[in-house]
Amino acid sequence: MEQVTKKAYAKLNLVLDVCHKRADGYHELRTVMQTVNLFDELTFRKRDDREIRLEVHAAGADVPCDQNNLVHRAVSAVMERYEACGGMDIVLNKQIPAAAGMAGGSSDAAAAILACDELYDLQMDRQTMCEIAVKIGADVPYCLTGGTVLCEGIGEIMTPLPELRKLYFVIVKPDVSVSTATVYGALDSTPDTWHPNVDGMIRAIKKQDSALITDCLGNVLESVTIPQHPVIEERKQLLSDCGAQGVLMSGSGPTVFGIFFDKEQQKRAYELLRQKKGIGQVFMAEPVADICS
Ligand code: ATP
Repeated sequence: MEQVTKKAYAKLNLVLDVCHKRADGYHELRTVMQTVNLFDELTFRKRDDREIRLEVHAAGADVPCDQNNLVHRAVSAVMERYEACGGMDIVLNKQIPAAAGMAGGSSDAAAAILACDELYDLQMDRQTMCEIAVKIGADVPYCLTGGTVLCEGIGEIMTPLPELRKLYFVIVKPDVSVSTATVYGALDSTPDTWHPNVDGMIRAIKKQDSALITDCLGNVLESVTIPQHPVIEERKQLLSDCGAQGVLMSGSGPTVFGIFFDKEQQKRAYELLRQKKGIGQVFMAEPVADICS
């Protein structure tokens, strides 16, 4: 095989708690991640000179096309470990908004690790892939498999949960930039007050109880991102006004999502919101259980 095309899916955090900061600076999390059917597309082609060439199509978004791109870093990391892994020509078509809290870059990096394995027949096992992935970013191991997963540690301890059914998302990415590092820095100097109900969310998902899932939505990072960017609260309110049963910011933001129990309601909210000028990017999405494509 000379070439492979992969979809790299976005994720939403249904619940996110930060437990503590480790001595090495990483934060220990407990979060339930959910893959959704919003994706970047990447084409990988073998080269025989151990060079990496990356072409990025990102419609105005600030995405690097050099070694700062996580895709580039992922391929380099695999090449360092496996002599058999030659170079790669890569074309990345972004759909997932960058720096949005939807793990767009992490998902691209995971797709790159999987593509190296397939194209160069490296026969990497899951653990080796995860070891490479976690060095690129905390969300990358999750993005290798996706689905509905409880992620703990810095993201590398993963427990699969039952797949979500009959939940429909409307996603709004306001036109503000949020730096993940700044958000975690601000959290460190915030007094410890409130924590979301992660165990409640796990129980709700296991029971397939949609109402309980929306009750347990919670993200500790809202407490620092929203005061810095009040527009996030305004977008949450818009989603609620459109009938969302539950609303939450994903990751470190600024993306927010609303959950609908009914596809027609989801579509109506989407149509309404995308006509509003200046609210940012609006997407409809559904849970994805299995990213293998
Ligand atoms: P997470 O939810 O994992 O924190 P995110 O959605 O907030 O991720 P990304 O879209 O992964 O953020 O991008 C964060 C930054 O990383 C961007 O500002 C961009 O400069 C850089 N970056 C590097 N590689 C990529 C990539 N392939 N796609 C998007 N951004 C990338």
